[in-house]
Amino acid sequence: MSQASEQAVLDAVPDGLLVGGRWRPAASGKTLDVHDPATGAVIRTIADGGVADGAAALDAAVEAGPGWARTAPRVRGEVLRRAFDLLQQRRDEVALLMTLEMGKPLAESQAEVTYGGEFLRWFSEEAVRITGRYGTNPEGTGRMLVSQHPVGPCYLITPWNFPLAMATRKIAPALAAGCTAVVKPAELTPLTTLFLAELLGEAGVPDGVVNVVTTSTAGDVSGPVIADPRLRKLSFTGSTPVGKQLLKQAADGVLRTSMELGGNAPFLVFEDADLDAAVAGAMLAKFRNVGQACTAANRFLVHERVAEEFAARVTAEVEGFPVGRGTEEGVRIGPLIDERAVRKAEQLVGDAVDRGAEVLTGGHRVERPGTFYAGTVVTGVRPGSDILRQEIFGPVLSVSTFGDEDEAVALANDTEYGLVSYAYTRDADRGQRLVDRLETGMMGLNVGVISNAGAPFGGVKQSGIGREGGLEGIHEYLSTKYTLTPDP
Ligand code: NAD
Repeated sequence: MSQASEQAVLDAVPDGLLVGGRWRPAASGKTLDVHDPATGAVIRTIADGGVADGAAALDAAVEAGPGWARTAPRVRGEVLRRAFDLLQQRRDEVALLMTLEMGKPLAESQAEVTYGGEFLRWFSEEAVRITGRYGTNPEGTGRMLVSQHPVGPCYLITPWNFPLAMATRKIAPALAAGCTAVVKPAELTPLTTLFLAELLGEAGVPDGVVNVVTTSTAGDVSGPVIADPRLRKLSFTGSTPVGKQLLKQAADGVLRTSMELGGNAPFLVFEDADLDAAVAGAMLAKFRNVGQACTAANRFLVHERVAEEFAARVTAEVEGFPVGRGTEEGVRIGPLIDERAVRKAEQLVGDAVDRGAEVLTGGHRVERPGTFYAGTVVTGVRPGSDILRQEIFGPVLSVSTFGDEDEAVALANDTEYGLVSYAYTRDADRGQRLVDRLETGMMGLNVGVISNAGAPFGGVKQSGIGREGGLEGIHEYLSTKYTLTPDP
């Protein structure tokens, strides 16, 4: 894309807050800058919402609530389906926008438009399948009616790493269920959500059903919204520490919550694995989104008989990855989101090396404008290294070894997280044992990418509470009501 079309895409994004169907500046008049992580340049300046704006957005969501809840499910579904169609028509624009504000290679932004868009289509189809049940009570004296109702106004907080998909994965089921929402995107990548909100309006989402507050002071704005008794649901995707804080705040109002938090995914390669498939899966599980995914493989645990060959083969792949701005043809390693992310990669690799690991490729920042870290493979990573405990969130593939299945399972489960696990083995019985034994919400068995709109995405342990997507996703936005009537 040319410079001019980049500018045109950026200029087309609304720069205000969306409250009650109206785009408006922050009440304080404050603004915040959005940067291109590949250059460091400011690409847009938008409204920086404050406490008053958060309150106004919630007012609007509360006011729009009853009307949207009464709207026929078929109509709610059709609106979402129109949003899906519009997104397909404008996929090049939104993909470029994501690359500009977040940095990921354009091909991956295109893939995110597909993945993120699918939530609009999936939940357009789920809106008409909200059902209950009817039956006799156990005593035989009455008839029980179990029905599902929208929970009410929701507060949806999203992270920067998948700016479109994390928004649609919450907004689509909320709207399908008949809920209204205040959306608070990450301050680093708010433009995609603003684009999406405008598109939802075009698709026929009524005023006030989706409100957007962009802000650089997420904690200040969110506190009063979460404390407001009219709010009925908090759905958060982000880091585990922030998720814990929000859970404490939500406890005061006994608020319904969904928490999609951090991960520390093990990627197990057994001695009987198809190594071609394992290497290909590793490239996806590790380097998708330049490693900045909650589902990113964080710890490659490889049987000691195949570890050397596996490490050599992934190193050969990584050495060939083109580095550059995400808009450049064929780029695999785009920038990390910011300087803090580069420093974290440096610290984790430095600590691993200090404890005895060996760098096979990379292991340093890339000297160019923006915030780049080289595609890296470290091997011989020792127990106790920080890189085995913390989310790397960068293009660093860390290899350690195991001797047998029991040790592999013990190492894989030795983390407070439990979002996703990957395993490569040709032994079907072993595969089934791993499904049973690994403490994980999701599992890729001989597969390196598991996300899709039909799947119940979510974690166990400190990776979260609840599921997004699949048949389960809409239930996060519904509450169950039971009614008893006398037996006629
Ligand atoms: P983050 O926790 O720093 O921020 C996430 C969101 O929370 C942002 O919108 C941010 O503005 C907001 N926020 C920050 N502090 C807040 C506060 N005190 N009150 C209210 N809101 C606040 O996370 P991040 O760096 O944006 O995203 C990366 C993290 O997200 C990683 O840990 C990753 O694993 C996780 N993640 C999880 C999933 C999942 O589905 N499980 C998906 C994507 C990312």
